[in-house]
Amino acid sequence: MTALPDPSVRPAGLADQFGRVARDLRVSVTDRCNLRCTYCMPAEGLPWMPRAEMLTDEEMLRLIGLFVRDGVTQVRLTGGEPLLRRSLVELVAGIAALEPRPKIAMTTNGVGLERVATGLKEAGLDRVNVSLDTIDSETFTQLTRRDRLADVEAGLEAAADAGLTPVKVNAVAMRGINDDSVADVLAWCLERGYELRFIEQMPLDAQHAWDRSTMISAGEIHARLSERWELTPLPAADRGSAPAERFLVDGGPQTVGIIASVSSPFCAACDRTRLTADGQVRNCLFSTTETDLRGPMRDGATDDELLGLMRGEMWRKRKGHGIGDPGFVQPDRPMSAIGG
Ligand code: SAM
Ligand code: SF4
Repeated sequence: MTALPDPSVRPAGLADQFGRVARDLRVSVTDRCNLRCTYCMPAEGLPWMPRAEMLTDEEMLRLIGLFVRDGVTQVRLTGGEPLLRRSLVELVAGIAALEPRPKIAMTTNGVGLERVATGLKEAGLDRVNVSLDTIDSETFTQLTRRDRLADVEAGLEAAADAGLTPVKVNAVAMRGINDDSVADVLAWCLERGYELRFIEQMPLDAQHAWDRSTMISAGEIHARLSERWELTPLPAADRGSAPAERFLVDGGPQTVGIIASVSSPFCAACDRTRLTADGQVRNCLFSTTETDLRGPMRDGATDDELLGLMRGEMWRKRKGHGIGDPGFVQPDRPMSAIGG
């Protein structure tokens, strides 16, 4: 384990040894979910975290406040399914009250968003990403093992009406399931003004069934979309630390993004850090280690002690996720328990 260098020589904030500094905090507010996407969870679900191990709102807000004090400027709520956390609106309001106020975003499957979109917007949520891999009802049910496409569509509409804009849609393509209809999803999003981003499937499923050879690559998605539209790449300078390569569709102004997390990793520009629902800080989705904040916090750790633990975890961040390396080991925690 790499020791944390003396504070007088190491850079301030959530820095690592490769010059990256975390600004974007992903908070998993629950590991529970109401869908069972095949690339994420087994049909029977997972053993959920015991309630006593989950951070209370007060604990979560204290830790998020410390991340913000240490340089985080964007907080994204995720899960599991974040809408399943009953106190979500209050949590958003608590984050919006932090100084300096971070931008607040959420990644959700959209089920139930229709009911709370306005409340979330009023509490301070700025933007949403809704995950939707297909617009065909049967395929949706096959992929998520739940017949809820209509709820997701209603959630998207409510998000746009509430001003949670730009509304973004995240899609994962799976071979033999929805890969032949990626263009239909884009056409559907273009019609409604949603910004679509495709994400390569990653080895983060609880079943450990991911196989690189069956993954639909960014190149393949680009080729399929190019059969219907002219895609013009936006300059890399517009991308910053954002992972999506974005393209103007038929000259714009609408765009589509493709995130090549596996085939062309963006680790060198990564500015993310993560907090799990049970109070572990993780420096990477693919990290096989994490640092416990909940235990020390419940044992009375001071803010400075907690900041020291967060900084130590970030300092140990590896240069890259190493999915292609022969020694790659998939993390024990599945995506739903890390926070995607
Ligand atoms: N339940 C919410 C949702 O689905 O948006 C938030 C959590 S989910 C883990 C976050 C994102 O991770 C979703 O867009 C989902 O499609 C994506 N995801 C889950 N498993 C994945 C995998 N194995 N590879 C790539 N993306 C994955
Ligand atoms: Fe649930 Fe999101 Fe995982 Fe689907 S991807 S099972 S919606 S946590």
